[in-house]
Amino acid sequence: MNNFSYRNPTQIHFGQGQIARIRDEIPANARVLITFGGGSIKKNGVLDQVHAALEGIEHFEFGGIEPNPHFETLIKAVELVKEKKIDYLLAVGGGSIIDGTKFIAAAARYPNDPWEIIQTYGAKITDALPIGCVLTLAATGSEMNNGAVVTRAETQDKLFFFSNHVFPKFSVLDPTATFSLPARQVGNGVVDSFVHVVEQYVTYPVNAKVQDRFAEGLLLNLLEDGPKALENPSDYDVRANLMWTATMALNGLIATGVPADWATHLIGQEITGLYGLDHGQTLAIVLPAVWTFKKEEKRAKLLQYAERVWGLQDGDEDGRIDAAIEKTRAFFEAMGVKTRLSDYGLGADVIPAVTAKLEQHGHVKLGEHADITPADVKSILELAL
Ligand code: NAP
Ligand code: FE
Repeated sequence: MNNFSYRNPTQIHFGQGQIARIRDEIPANARVLITFGGGSIKKNGVLDQVHAALEGIEHFEFGGIEPNPHFETLIKAVELVKEKKIDYLLAVGGGSIIDGTKFIAAAARYPNDPWEIIQTYGAKITDALPIGCVLTLAATGSEMNNGAVVTRAETQDKLFFFSNHVFPKFSVLDPTATFSLPARQVGNGVVDSFVHVVEQYVTYPVNAKVQDRFAEGLLLNLLEDGPKALENPSDYDVRANLMWTATMALNGLIATGVPADWATHLIGQEITGLYGLDHGQTLAIVLPAVWTFKKEEKRAKLLQYAERVWGLQDGDEDGRIDAAIEKTRAFFEAMGVKTRLSDYGLGADVIPAVTAKLEQHGHVKLGEHADITPADVKSILELAL
């Protein structure tokens, strides 16, 4: 196991009815800005519960944050924060809302051009407004981590940043808030969580038994409960297990002391930035191709994954690995997420644009060995056509 230092400061309130706990977390004299998206929280009653919890606490609203939140939109929220002297942000929604709110929190306290926050991957953040979250979509883990992804629509740049200053102070995880999700977002969320786990697990062995067995447990949950959430959207236990699985997949715990890949996420981000595919869709396209391309380097962990997650023990090594990759692809498809570029109307002509964006962003050595070059990404995407 590699050395590590681990701390996660986010308070979690999990379960039905826990939205009321917001009241215990936000100071009574705070000036709160509720941030949200296109309106799902108005239809499913979550916003009403938030209003009830904030009764007597001064609050304002900023809606209309889009999926893959736009820098251009978030900047408008920063202006509102300054105008209304907001001192607490409450993100109510999925990963896009929480990520966008992390940017608003940092930009509101940033003295220079806020685009620098993104350009420097968060390194220049020294302060941020406090953030609370009410999660409505199990997927990203943003509710319990220090990362965020923001898109500059004008230039089609989709980029991540990290800062310990943007860890949420608290997050409410009420599984009933996810009952109203459309099937497409259930599928995207399960694929995103799955890929978070495997990008920290299917690398090379460092004898990290706790992390490996945690990762395998999370994957088995997703295989078991993902399809059930599609079949019966209001099954509380299924939603509860999926929600906590997604949070645990990217709250730093399984990342301790192990190598991480993240090639699939970085390639996928460029595809979303350029062509607007959902985050989960890009991951479902890229992951099987990365594994096929990197089969030799990942051989030991792919064999472990094949055996412990899919029960594949018979036959030769290559056969087991190929079967595990195909089962993974079939699982994504069963969750309603297509796994080929062509399924989304994209062909080989998009490949140079994706590799050019990776080069522009300096992402030219990807993967756990930092050895995936733009030329390799071309080969990977050819496998994904
Ligand atoms: P999302 O973009 O936040 O939401 C997708 C859609 O789901 C929106 O249209 C939203 O509608 C709808 N929705 C959310 N909750 C709903 C509910 N309970 N009922 C009905 N509809 C609901 O999705 P996401 O997958 O959570 O976030 C994706 C973003 O997170 C991407 O930008 C991705 O790059 C990023 N990401 C971040 C991390 C991280 O660690 N920070 C990790 C992975 C990915 P409304 O707008 O109407 O609410
Ligand atoms: Fe992700």
